[in-house]
Amino acid sequence: MNEETAAGLGLQGRKVTVAGLGVSGVPAAKALHDLGAHVTAVDGADHEKAHAQAAELEALGITVRLGDGATLPEGTDLIVTTPGWKPSSPLFAAAAEAGIDIWGDVELAWRLRKPDAAPWLAVTGTNGKTTTVQMLACILRAAGLRTAAVGNIGVSLLDVVLGEEPYDVLAVELSSYQLHWAPSVRAHSAAVLNLAPDHLDWHGSMEAYAADKGRIYQGNQVACVYNLADPATEALVREADVEEGARAIGFTLGSPRPSEFGVVDGILLDRAFVEGRHRNAQELAEVSDIDPPAPHNIANALAAAALARAYGVPPAAVRDGLRAFKPDAHRISQVATLGGVAYVDDSKATNTHAAEASLAAYEPIVWIAGGLAKGATFDDLVTGAAKRLRGVVLIGADRALIREALARHAPEVPVVDLDRTDTGAMAAAVAEAARLAQPGDTVLLAPACASMDMFVNYNARGDAFAEAVRDMR
Ligand code: ADP
Repeated sequence: MNEETAAGLGLQGRKVTVAGLGVSGVPAAKALHDLGAHVTAVDGADHEKAHAQAAELEALGITVRLGDGATLPEGTDLIVTTPGWKPSSPLFAAAAEAGIDIWGDVELAWRLRKPDAAPWLAVTGTNGKTTTVQMLACILRAAGLRTAAVGNIGVSLLDVVLGEEPYDVLAVELSSYQLHWAPSVRAHSAAVLNLAPDHLDWHGSMEAYAADKGRIYQGNQVACVYNLADPATEALVREADVEEGARAIGFTLGSPRPSEFGVVDGILLDRAFVEGRHRNAQELAEVSDIDPPAPHNIANALAAAALARAYGVPPAAVRDGLRAFKPDAHRISQVATLGGVAYVDDSKATNTHAAEASLAAYEPIVWIAGGLAKGATFDDLVTGAAKRLRGVVLIGADRALIREALARHAPEVPVVDLDRTDTGAMAAAVAEAARLAQPGDTVLLAPACASMDMFVNYNARGDAFAEAVRDMR
């Protein structure tokens, strides 16, 4: 490992407390230990998994304290936190009082980059991050660049910056939590896809959530990409302190003006990174090159294209990259068509903003919804979708909230309330949906809720749906 970097960061011999074990805490603790820091990892948890992780770290000589995440270890002069820890955690209050810096894993990764490291093209937003970053990586690859989709997508930035693999440029997904604790990150270019209330329990307020998302634009060198349909994203660009010459680039599903990306007659157009943008537009790809060609996903593709073009990628690579992109499972994936009815799994629609996007993509719909609402309300979602609904099947702990919204705004739509939260309820839900559906309809699993009341995660929920559909064949 790079001792010069460690010395440069002043980590050697420093007492660093790592807040939280888990997927990002364990690698952070190891990396800091390798860099010569005296590491203490703390976690409020005290279960079997935490003990296994603790044993792994202790074997390396790292001190671990389980069952107490609140007390600041004696002599701490830096905290490196995992994204899950809320800013309001008592440990951080103690650190603030003592004037101790708090870095997230992304901040640490950024500071440990080698001097000639690959620039970051960064993406955040309430929904569409993973999809957009994957599209972007496909486009960059199609241009012959060495790249990877990294960050919140499940690939640790720390591993990437400390690893030997040479990259030209990175497609980086950043969550609002990560951005909160990453004040020094300076992307080449960045995009905020959209902003809707989510994770407010972590951030404390919508303003704080937006401000953390907005950090992604700080110090951008070339382009700040925003969503013309979501003025809050444009406001964040206006507030950002960027490098001299960095441009604001909007994307829209409509016709683009100069310095925008948009769509005309099914063609994706660039009017930003093109000679004579006041007169000209560059054709990039066709809507039919995007899978699925639903409106929200065209928006994701435009954002990915804007970042790639900001980096200098040629138009043909945008088209080839979008054609090469295949969506991950459980994100609007068509499971089967039975008796003229399409069955679509969007289990990843774990909040109302995401569900709104997939409900806008089909008509008529038999909607399977419900789960854990996480404090959400459903009135706007139901009002917007009412005309498209053939029927609704409700499952999960907070289904009453959706049922009540339906009663208020779509009283004529038939609703089957399954009154079940067991895992087997999905098969019953699919059977009820099949009964309500007519040829030409789409049965759409877009729960607008988290899955943990009934399933291990949204993957398991989507798998249960797909299995139930296959069993009907
Ligand atoms: P994230 O990484 O931000 O969670 P994903 O790309 O995994 O986003 O998509 C999550 C879900 O959000 C999808 O299943 C889809 O329902 C919805 N979605 C994707 N892109 C958008 C978008 N641009 N606007 C609104 N909803 C979206």
